[in-house]
Parts: sequence; C-alpha cells; structure tokens
Amino acid sequence: MGGLRLFVAVALGGDARLRIDSHLSEHVPGGLPGRPTRPDQWHLTLRFLGSVAESVGDRVLGWLDQSDLGGPFTMRFGPVGAFPRPAKATVMWLGVEDGGDRLAALAAAAEDAAMSAGLQAEDRPFRPHLTLSRVRPPQDVSGLIDTIPPLDLRVPVDRMVLYQSHLGRGGATYEEVDHVAL
Ligand code: ATP
Ligand code: MG
Repeated sequence: MGGLRLFVAVALGGDARLRIDSHLSEHVPGGLPGRPTRPDQWHLTLRFLGSVAESVGDRVLGWLDQSDLGGPFTMRFGPVGAFPRPAKATVMWLGVEDGGDRLAALAAAAEDAAMSAGLQAEDRPFRPHLTLSRVRPPQDVSGLIDTIPPLDLRVPVDRMVLYQSHLGRGGATYEEVDHVAL
C-alpha cells in the first residue's frame, strides 16, 4: 500500500522543549524508563490519520483552513502521568493542566476534517498529552511519577500542523508537511 503516514498535531516552540527537557533532567536524573522520545520530535497529537493518500492530507488541511478554530490560546502543561495507568505503564506523558478544552476542540475539528476526507471515525476518546517515553514491557512507574513535580509551563498555541511520520529503526521522525493558523 502506498500512501503517507500522516497526523495532525500541535507543535512546540524551542523554549518549551528546553524547559521540559531541563525539568526532566533535574527531576529524573537517571532518565525515564523505556524508550524516551526525542525533544526535537515532541508534539501533541490531535488526530492520527494513518497511512493515506497525499490528497487526504490536502483535504484535511483545506477543511481546517475553512473552519473557525477559535484563535490562538495559551496552554499550560502539568504533571507527568502514564497510560494505561502508572502501575503498568506503556506510555509516559506530560499532561495538560489548562487549555485541554481548546485542544479537544481542535481535535474535534481535525476529526470533522478527517470525516470530510472520507476516513473512518476515531473511536478512542481524545486525551491530550505529550508522549515522553514508550515502555515495553510495561513497568510500574507510580513511585517515579510521585517524585516529579508538575511542570508549570505555559506555551502559546497558534497553529495546527500536518506531519508526515517516517518510521525508522531509531524511532519515528516527523516532518512538517503544512500548517493552518488558528
Ligand atoms: P513508533 O510507532 O515508531 O513508536 P510514533 O508512534 O511516534 O513512533 P507514529 O506511529 O507514526 O510514530 O505516530 C505518529 C503520532 O501519532 C504519535 O504521536 C503517535 O502517538 C500517534 N499515533 C500513532 N498511532 C495512533 C493511533 N492509532 N491513534 C492515535 N494516535 C496515534
Ligand atoms: Mg506509533
């Protein structure tokens, strides 16, 4: 099957990446368990589109471009947590303290855009998060999480980005294809 592996996400500025990275270095000096994600690849996924024709990406961006996305806003990060639960973590993440409602609205707009492009509906509920590490096999990280203070970091959100994911042996890398301003 041809096609591009695409997803819609909120990107982070360089300042935010540095702040998150130094917070983790300070409070988790041994590094996170599992396979940590790279700071230069950090993002908040709004809608994973899957492996699709290039035209799907165009249609999704075109739809979003015509949508009222509500304008720029500020979100605030919070505590580190884990899916599906800290006692059996497979994904460690940085959570969102404020602005999750706006991110959910952007995810809903991306869902509408995906529907308009003919994709299957997403059945999983949207949980805004920034993936910090993938843990396989699962580990109990509840003790570790309790030692990490919440990161009180505000970041501006002013665009939605369409990314292409390139799967590789050293993990995926993402390339910005296009974006829409909020
Ligand atoms: P790898 O799959 O090699 O671990 P990755 O998950 O970062 O790397 P992709 O699988 O291409 O790379 O995923 C791109 C983004 O979309 C990531 O944020 C990922 O968490 C998210 N994602 C991937 N698959 C899904 C899915 N089925 N539903 C929701 N989000 C997904
Ligand atoms: Mg993946």
